[in-house]
Amino acid sequence: MSGDPFTQVLHGDDDVPDGVDVAPPIHVASTYDRSDQSELVYRRDHHITTRRLEAVLGALEGGEAVVYPSGMAAISSLLRYLSPARISLPADVYHGTRAYVTSAPHGWDVVEGFDGLGQGDVALLETPSNPKCLVTDIAAVAAEVGARGVAVVVDSTFATPVLQQPLSLGADYVVHSSTKYIGGHSDAMGGAVVAEANRAAELQAARVIDGSIPGSLDVWLTLRGIRTLPLRIARQSETAAAVAEYLAGRVPLVWYPGLPTHPGHEVAARQMSAGGAIVSFELASFEAAAAAASKLEVFRTATSLGGVESVVEHRASVNPLAPPGLIRLSVGLESPADLIADLDGALG
Ligand code: PLP
Repeated sequence: MSGDPFTQVLHGDDDVPDGVDVAPPIHVASTYDRSDQSELVYRRDHHITTRRLEAVLGALEGGEAVVYPSGMAAISSLLRYLSPARISLPADVYHGTRAYVTSAPHGWDVVEGFDGLGQGDVALLETPSNPKCLVTDIAAVAAEVGARGVAVVVDSTFATPVLQQPLSLGADYVVHSSTKYIGGHSDAMGGAVVAEANRAAELQAARVIDGSIPGSLDVWLTLRGIRTLPLRIARQSETAAAVAEYLAGRVPLVWYPGLPTHPGHEVAARQMSAGGAIVSFELASFEAAAAAASKLEVFRTATSLGGVESVVEHRASVNPLAPPGLIRLSVGLESPADLIADLDGALG
């Protein structure tokens, strides 16, 4: 190599080995050296860090995973790929999903319930749902509509693959916003679809064409986060159960699947291994809820959920369709006693 700096800046490190890192490195290249006939061609097609995350997620869900830049990118890519005539949507569902499904120009007929669905249609479940943590019996829906050729899609973001595996209950596709628990640190966006191998391969091929490939840093951070998912979700779920029990003695309405008073408790006890880490509750009015939420100090006031830090949101302040007095808590890793004391102070 000559001493020309134009060449040196590009090839000065050619002989440094890639190493034997225990933690996966971040691969950022958009294209690959193909002189050794590497199967890697272009990052939109294949990417090693992405594949690692997909391998972990696929193992957890019992299928093959395809990752996307956000939960909404996962949901929208899947629905465009399935291209149904009708989509069944639950009454309580993440408002972004409703906005996407009902927005023009898809022309999808959006229905509630499963009666009118037929071949090629989609039953989109979200269980537990956002924000009321309502629970849908995945196995019962799959048994009801599967024989009619309806694709059962489950948004399992609140449950995570640690607490619930929809594919094993008969679902065709699982979707996640990995921005939430899977990443877990409020520093990475992402989404995933998990399905059996042939379906995942078709989605992967569609992703190459539509270009919805996540960025390297987000994927790497999510891969780093997922390593502690079982530990985080176990502790967060346990604390959430304590918070829900405390609230049940303080406020008239608590939405938490782990409470025996929750309408979905019996199904949740069957299909989830714990109640999860989201607790919603309702106060008498918009004003009462907004005031109580603003008094919390350990719970940070922010949207999103699933991070290690506890977060509170008065949902009707951001989503007019939410019940006016509903407060959603995303329970993090802080001491349960500190979180309960914070709520006690705010509820006066
Ligand atoms: N699904 C559920 C249940 C959610 O709560 C969210 C976001 O809050 C999404 C999907 C969308 O995920 P993202 O924000 O990563 O696009």
